[in-house]
Amino acid sequence: MATQIQVFTFNPFMENTYVVYDDSKECVIIDPGCYERSEQLALHNFITQNGLQVKHLLNTHCHIDHVLGNAYVMHQYGVPLEIHEIEKTQLKAVESYAPSYGFTQYQPSEASVWLQEEDVIRFGSTELRVMFTPGHAAGHVVFVCDAAGFVINGDVLFQGSIGRTDLPGGDFDTLIQSIQQKMFLLPDETVVYCGHGPSTTIGYEKRTNPFCALSR
Ligand SMILES: [Zn+2]
Ligand SMILES: [Zn+2]
Repeated sequence: MATQIQVFTFNPFMENTYVVYDDSKECVIIDPGCYERSEQLALHNFITQNGLQVKHLLNTHCHIDHVLGNAYVMHQYGVPLEIHEIEKTQLKAVESYAPSYGFTQYQPSEASVWLQEEDVIRFGSTELRVMFTPGHAAGHVVFVCDAAGFVINGDVLFQGSIGRTDLPGGDFDTLIQSIQQKMFLLPDETVVYCGHGPSTTIGYEKRTNPFCALSR
């Protein structure tokens, strides 16, 4: 049966955390933003109630809102953290600025597996293809499921908008290039799961997204 997706919206940044799983009961957790104990439990209850086995912990990029639950997931499920190597410094930086955002209990995490363009993440009968899409963050990646027709896209595309580029590692032209030359090559019907807000499709954003209209 088809690959399934569960979304949780965690932390004051309203960040979307994704659990992707299939009939094998194997799953991956992408961008765990759980910080409060209640958020950790919401994620854990879903995993246990569905009898899921966590095979991979993945980050699209390492801004604070996407990494708050990394340490929890690593310890709870015994999986290493997988990110693009360029995000290493970004992840390290979270330790120093977390308290200024009020996250005084932030638990730091370190990655030990490096993701690259065209890597394939395998679990159960599902494959996620890694696409390198810098611009919002210098080492941003997205996870494409060609068979099921979706992409877990972090903060690259949003419904009617795009990721901000004023944070460290951000660059507007690079982001537009990632969208035009990578994201928009996916089939129009591809469902785009965003790091914040509702999901959208590649076709809808191609037609309507004002930020991507310039070179359409
Ligand atoms: Zn971000
Ligand atoms: Zn974000």
